[in-house]
Amino acid sequence: PAQPRDRLRVAIQKSGRLGEPARELLASCGLTWRESRDKLFCYGESLPVDLLLVRDDDIPGLIADGVCDMGIVGRNVLVEHDLARRAQGRGADLTEWRQLGWGTCRLDVAIDEDQEWTGPEQLAGMRIATSYPHTLGRWLEEHGVDAEPVLLNGSVEIAPRLGQADVVCDLVSTGGTLRANQLKPVTTILHSEAVIAGPGHPLDDGRQEIADLLLRRLDGAVQLKE
Ligand code: ATP
Ligand code: ZN
Repeated sequence: PAQPRDRLRVAIQKSGRLGEPARELLASCGLTWRESRDKLFCYGESLPVDLLLVRDDDIPGLIADGVCDMGIVGRNVLVEHDLARRAQGRGADLTEWRQLGWGTCRLDVAIDEDQEWTGPEQLAGMRIATSYPHTLGRWLEEHGVDAEPVLLNGSVEIAPRLGQADVVCDLVSTGGTLRANQLKPVTTILHSEAVIAGPGHPLDDGRQEIADLLLRRLDGAVQLKE
């Protein structure tokens, strides 16, 4: 049997857009840590709450596998992971415990800025470059459109110019990157923000109590900011 784990383990992004605000939010709850030499693990000093610093894409899997108890991640990453797992016939037991109201962005379909947008049907038969094939696939299905997601893990916006795809489906906040690539957003398939993700069932070994305490403090900290 697995060893009991009586400390809460929270996964956050190591760097990138959500890492710093996530750490600040947790620090505003009175948490302090001692960093490991490789800076991938932070041992909680004021509360038994440790941090694991990882790539955002790894956060849902770490929670689903029980390696971490909760995480701070974009809804876009959580939804894509959930749909990917379902596609493999594995029910993912992950939910949004809280919505944090920052890290907001949209997953948008964007087309050539000179083209007219008439609606989803227009995408029939097209190659759509995206890092979110399952989220896009669900939207296409809902709209009865038969198109071909082309999976790219970076540089999605230049795919049309490179001839790899006809249009793109990517994260947008200001639209600056799209404009720089002569693309314009035409429809939103997901509204995203940073969320606290955790399992849909209570935690074991007394960790739920620690999680509840942390969530109460988080709620207070989020309210103070509003
Ligand atoms: P990692 O190295 O951890 O894999 P990443 O490059 O995949 O990082 P970031 O660019 O740091 O990820 O974005 C993290 C999250 O920030 C996104 O998943 C999304 O939820 C949010 N976000 C907010 N605005 C934007 C934006 N304009 N473009 C991309 N992501 C955004
Ligand atoms: Zn990532």
